[in-house]
Formats: sequence, structure tokens, C-alpha cells
Amino acid sequence: MKRRGWAHVLGIVIATWLVFLLHSCTAPSAYRDVFRLGEITRPPLVQIGLGAYLRVEAAPVAVRGPCAVQGDRRDELRGDARLRDGRIEVAGKPYDGDEVRIVPEWDGTLEVGSRRYHGDLIVKRDREKITLVNEVDLERYLKGVAGKEMSPSAHAEALKAQIIAARTYATYEIRAQTLRRVKGERFDLYDDQRSQVYGGLERETAAISALVDETAGMFVVWEDRVFKAYYASTCGGRTEASWSVMGDGDRIPPLAGTTCEYCAGSKYYEWKAAFSKTDMSRRLFPDDPRAKVRSVRVSSALPGGHATQVAVTLENHSREKFLDANRGFRLALDSAKLRSTLWVSVEEKGEEIVVHGRGFGHGVGMCQVGAYRMADLGHDAVRILEHYYPGAQVKKLY
Ligand SMILES: [Zn+2]
Repeated sequence: MKRRGWAHVLGIVIATWLVFLLHSCTAPSAYRDVFRLGEITRPPLVQIGLGAYLRVEAAPVAVRGPCAVQGDRRDELRGDARLRDGRIEVAGKPYDGDEVRIVPEWDGTLEVGSRRYHGDLIVKRDREKITLVNEVDLERYLKGVAGKEMSPSAHAEALKAQIIAARTYATYEIRAQTLRRVKGERFDLYDDQRSQVYGGLERETAAISALVDETAGMFVVWEDRVFKAYYASTCGGRTEASWSVMGDGDRIPPLAGTTCEYCAGSKYYEWKAAFSKTDMSRRLFPDDPRAKVRSVRVSSALPGGHATQVAVTLENHSREKFLDANRGFRLALDSAKLRSTLWVSVEEKGEEIVVHGRGFGHGVGMCQVGAYRMADLGHDAVRILEHYYPGAQVKKLY
């Protein structure tokens, strides 16, 4: 009996270990407990780094009304934040410590430069300079994102899908601490395309605020976790796997890419960009004045068609030169003209190279223009999100 008991325990230990081993093999490492839905019970606070004031000497700050600066009550605040003699100074008064928190008594009276913000402002010491960080709760933050990331005149269901995706993306980033861990930043999100475009009160409208309230606490989830719900302007017909394009995002079905018939015919669905061979040679090979581009071809692409590598043939060179399609070619040439890396063909036309492409943006996650179209066709926000994040569900967590 005793022996059987031990064998039983040993069996359980081995079985547990096998399950753990199997789980650790199949579950992506980035998939940690912090993303579990049970952990999300109220809107988290978000810290947003203000792009114009990252590691600057000084920044103009104001509060139109009463506020507290590190607990010091003031009737009003107007002046610069800066480092002076190793201490953070706000409107002429120095404070000890690595950060100084400015708390307006009335919401919306906080100003940085020409922009107004909800929530608090934190002046952080950052590599011998200062960085300004706006801290606000997630739902307030979304009111400043939705009008910047999509046209406020879009169909309400498309805007709701956008808001739910943005809420999920932000929550993932807060929990993953990506910017703090990877970039050494002292906040959760940038206020520009590097994260999500956020303008404080700038583009907030009553209509968008109502949609944020209507969808409060709704997330797009996979199994029992939030994930990095990417989105971009126009996919061009098919989205790609996040890990292939961005080098991150979990290897889960909602981020694996899907077809999109909804952005066809939109403004950036098809485009072409022409470059003179001389200009292209100079930009692609700045260190080699004799380089002269003869032709270009896509030498490697992802399943959705986004190029990952191009091969460039130079005059008087028998071997092709291989370049990374995004960093080595698109960004080196002109990222505004080459709106994506989804290139249908690259044509040699006399003294010019013409790239025929589709879509606008990185092509991962929800296609925003496709979402507009789906909403116009009568699909609701949940259906839109389920289409662009296959296998995912929408859930209300608070
Ligand atoms: Zn699309």
C-alpha cells in the first residue's frame, strides 16, 4: 500500500512536470500571468511620455487654477520645469528627489506648451535632463487617443472597435513594461506613432468621449489574456503576423494575420512611388559615390506579401546587393512615399525605378480603413475585432 502510495505521488509529480514542460514549450515566453484577465478589475493609471519633452533642458508648464506641486499648494502655476544645480525646479522653486508631481485641483486645467491634459504631470529626472510624463487613468487616456488615431467622423462601430483595440494595446504595454524594460524609458507609452497617438484634450469630442464610456472596460482578448492588439491604417488586402513584422507580439492566432477585402479601393490601397536611379543610388549607398542602381527586385517576402529583403543590381557589379526592405530600403529612400513594404512590383523605367505598392502602415492587426468599411456595411465593433484578430473575443472586464 505504502509502495503504491509513493508510486502514485511519483506519478503525479512526473505528470505535473510533463504538463509544465509541455506548457512551457507551447506557451510563448512573453505570455505571463500579468496579462491574465482576472488581474484587470479597474482602469489602470497610464504614464505617457510627452514626445516634445523627452530629455529636454526645460519645458513650459502651467496650471490654470489651484494645484499642488509635490504637496505644495499654489493658486496657479506658470513657468518652466528644469534641472538646476542637480535639483528639479518648477516655476522657480527647487524640489528634492527624482520626480516632482503636479496635481491640478480641477481636471483639464493642466497645460504643457500649447496642449491641455487630464490627470497629473510628473517631471522626471532623466539622464541629466528632464522628461515630462502625463499620468491619467486609462479611460481618460483613450478619449485623447481615439480622435487622433481615427477620423472622429467615422462610423460609431468602427470607432468603438478602435477604442477597444487601443484599450487592449495600452493595457498590454503597461503590463509588459516594454518601454521601461527595452528602451529604458520612465513611462509606459509614447504619445506618438511609436505607441499610440495621444493629444490630451486636443482632439477630444463629446461624441468620442461617449463611445469610450459606452465601451468602458471592454477588451479584445484571447483565451484568458490581453494581447498586443496592433492596428494600422490600410493593410492592402492581407495583414501579417506580428512577430514577422514587429519582432514581437505573442505567437497566437489573433496576431497571425488574416485576409481583408474591406480596404480595397480606399485612398492608400494602391500607390506608386518613382525614384530617379541617381537619387536612389545616393540614398541607398551614401558611402559609395560610384554606385549606380540598375534594377531592384523583391528577393524575400512574408506570406501576406510584405517585402522583407530587396536585391539591388548595380552597374558594373555582377553580384546583387541585398538590403533589408524596411530599414535598408524604405526608410533609407523615403518612408512617406513608400507607404508600406507591401510591394506588388518594382519596375525599371528608363532612368527611374517605380515601386508599385499597396496599403499604408506596418500591416499588422486591425486594418483601420477596413474597419470603417465593415462598419459602413453594417458590422458591429465586436464583429470587426473578431475579423481582424481571428479567434479573439471581446469581453468586459470592469
Ligand atoms: Zn485592409
